[in-house]
Amino acid sequence: MNENLKIKKCTIAIDGYSACGKSTIAKQIAARFGWVYVDTGAMYRATTLHFLNEDVDLNSLQSVENALKHINISFRNVNGHNRTMLNGDDVEEQIRTIHVSNFVSEVSALSVVRSAMVAQQRRMGDGDLSIVMDGRDIGTVVFPDADIKFFITALPEVRAMRRFNELVEKGIPADLSTIASNLMHRDTIDSTREDSPLRQAEDAIVIDNSLLSNNEQMHIIYGHIENKCNIYGV
Ligand code: C5P
Repeated sequence: MNENLKIKKCTIAIDGYSACGKSTIAKQIAARFGWVYVDTGAMYRATTLHFLNEDVDLNSLQSVENALKHINISFRNVNGHNRTMLNGDDVEEQIRTIHVSNFVSEVSALSVVRSAMVAQQRRMGDGDLSIVMDGRDIGTVVFPDADIKFFITALPEVRAMRRFNELVEKGIPADLSTIASNLMHRDTIDSTREDSPLRQAEDAIVIDNSLLSNNEQMHIIYGHIENKCNIYGV
């Protein structure tokens, strides 16, 4: 973080379709300004992993409510990398597998799951620290009064290729067409579910990064943040 930057508490909401680079953007903002970063997709993924491990019947409200009582999700920073913890276990790799991706949107559509996650997310934003949170409903539901809301989008084929490369880099087996259909499947469920569907907040700044380099995109984003959050060099 640049020590010469003076900053007030700022809440940044980043929403958008699957694999648009939301978490890459959020991590860079958090690192640059020394802010807290919360990956809400990881929370829904960890919940899904737990449900799969415990064979929870998604059609039984009682089973889902009961399973939620036994879930403790937190984040740990290991050598500068964000790791998702589920009941004390590091599940960062497990939650990124296509198996979890294939179920996460069905789990995330359940209202009882959403209200548990949203409550925890709001608690994370309660303190004095500035926070950057990415997901699908951050600007619309979790922090409707966020200082800045970004809505990130990109062409479907660009997104599929990025996710493919990301998994390959992490050594996770990947197939491009499987990824493309998973992204489409999730976007459809995420945008059409009854409870807090993915949609662009009216006051969101839309960024289509299909043709932008990371530097170009971050230049635009930092500009908005420095302006809105009264960040100035001294
Ligand atoms: O961000 P990521 O792609 O890891 O999110 C995985 C899934 O979690 C999404 O497809 C969506 O179903 C769900 N999700 C959600 N609300 C959020 C974040 C993620 O419903 N705020």
